[in-house]
Amino acid sequence: MKLNTRFLLLRVAIFVMFALLSWLSFNMMLNAINEQWGKEFAQRQVLFDKYRTLSPLIREIRLARQMATEPALLEIAQDERNAAVRSRAIAVMEQYRFNFRDHSYFAAFSRSNNYYFNDASGKYSRNQYRYTLSPHQQNDAWFYATLIDGKECQINLDPDVHLGLVKVWINVLLKKNNEVLGVVGTGIDLTEFLKESVGIEQPGVHNFFVDENFAIQLSSDPKLIDYASLAKDESERLKVDVLFSNQTEMSHLRELATQLSQRAVPGQVSTMWVDFRGERNLLGIAYLPEVGWYDLTLMNEKSLAAIHGFVWLPLVFGFLFLIALLILNFFLQRWVLKPIGQLQRATEDIQHGIYDVKLPTMGKGEVAALADSFRHMVSVVQKTNHDLEQKVKDRTQDLQRLTEVDPLTELLNRRGMMERFAHEVSRQTRQSGSLGILLFDLDHFKNVNDTYGHAAGDIALCATANILRSNKRSYDHAGRWGGEEFLLLLPNCNEQDLLLIAERIRIEVAALTIQTGQRSFSFTVSIGAHHPNSPQTLDGMLQQVDAALYAAKDAGRNCVRSSTNKVG
Ligand code: GH3
Ligand code: MG
Ligand code: MG
Repeated sequence: MKLNTRFLLLRVAIFVMFALLSWLSFNMMLNAINEQWGKEFAQRQVLFDKYRTLSPLIREIRLARQMATEPALLEIAQDERNAAVRSRAIAVMEQYRFNFRDHSYFAAFSRSNNYYFNDASGKYSRNQYRYTLSPHQQNDAWFYATLIDGKECQINLDPDVHLGLVKVWINVLLKKNNEVLGVVGTGIDLTEFLKESVGIEQPGVHNFFVDENFAIQLSSDPKLIDYASLAKDESERLKVDVLFSNQTEMSHLRELATQLSQRAVPGQVSTMWVDFRGERNLLGIAYLPEVGWYDLTLMNEKSLAAIHGFVWLPLVFGFLFLIALLILNFFLQRWVLKPIGQLQRATEDIQHGIYDVKLPTMGKGEVAALADSFRHMVSVVQKTNHDLEQKVKDRTQDLQRLTEVDPLTELLNRRGMMERFAHEVSRQTRQSGSLGILLFDLDHFKNVNDTYGHAAGDIALCATANILRSNKRSYDHAGRWGGEEFLLLLPNCNEQDLLLIAERIRIEVAALTIQTGQRSFSFTVSIGAHHPNSPQTLDGMLQQVDAALYAAKDAGRNCVRSSTNKVG
């Protein structure tokens, strides 16, 4: 795989990994912040709800408790028939009527079962006695349940059928020396109360108050309230279970609630996530020891999110990272991949014998050093190649020379001579010029060798070659034709000149003295000359000149004979 492709894949992998990790970590961070924020918010919201709801109730409870300690009321509870006692007690109750928030009160006495009531309208001011309670009346069940329950203070939501009202009733036991003499208290109009507590609209926030049995006591939705919980059997109560379908969450809620009520640390709030009407909600739970209730505040996850709408943030990060990768890619291409590509192309060029290669010229770093080394290597390779080529050329020339030059005399050998001969013959034919040839054969050379040695013979051969060389014209060709035979080709030479040159050579050879050690010797040469009048074949010329040489030998050697019988 190409380096470029590898880097591309690597970059894509890094980008995907980074994008994924940053998206995950961003979401985790966002969730952690939102969750923390949600919990903090939930705690404050719960405490706020708790005090908002409790403050009017607590005042009423305090007043009701005070009312339960009034001696006049304790008296009437014990001696109701006494008119003076009754009017004193009614006067006290009427005082409380004005102090209670709803300007209403009630008092029910266990000995007589008589129920006294008056409200803001004061329509019972003449006769506060309303009726006598009966344990057989369902509507009066709250009274007997309160007595049996024995709790000093009870909050009860009860529709009063006699009065046509639904009220939050504050029931306080009237007690003397552990004897329960009755129940006194007041009622707050539920609609008014709800408006001020759970009814305050906050988007995404729902508020419920439940009693210790989780029966719903207060809710902005009146249909959810478990009215007259006190008088009901536990199985009949409308419990908070209706809000939460998940049983595991329900049991966790019960656990948390039990812990809170056992510890009863003021201001302590627990939170848990629940599924409420198909959405995730944070549920804040607080215990209200004053009334024995729990405050449940549900906050929608969406409305809790402290940070939302920041989806673009990881996108911006991703975009910036992409730009960083592109910049990295740009410099990677510029500093590494492009120079490597150039080096690779240069290598290919060199393989094809092109040395004028384009090399990277970037910077001073490793790539530049590599390019320098490469450049140096190219020049070394180029020089070595050039030297090799020169050597091959020289060697080829040497070989070529060796094939047509006689190593002893350094004249052309027979092969070289034949080539020149063929060339000259064809040229003469073409241009209708003249061509003369001289064939030389050293006389009795065998004797020379035998008498003075082969080396002396070689010296004699070389000396003869030198004479031929010095007598030939620049365009003549001289060669060693055989052992002690030589041939001289003389283009554009008339027969007379040919014979003159032959004669001159003969004389010079005869005049030679070869010195070998203590001895010296001379030798002669016989020469055949041939100068055709019209163009002739190579073989024909050779035959003629050979015949002329034979004639010279025959004539007694050391002489020149022409094929035309002319004597040089
Ligand atoms: P002729 O006058 O008839 O030509 O007599 P010749 O002795 O020259 O006769 P032949 O042609 O039979 O002998 C040629 C001799 O030349 C024989 C050989 O020893 C000698 N020879 C040939 N080549 C060389 C050489 O390269 N070096 C030496 N030293 N002698 C050579
Ligand atoms: Mg011979
Ligand atoms: Mg000879």
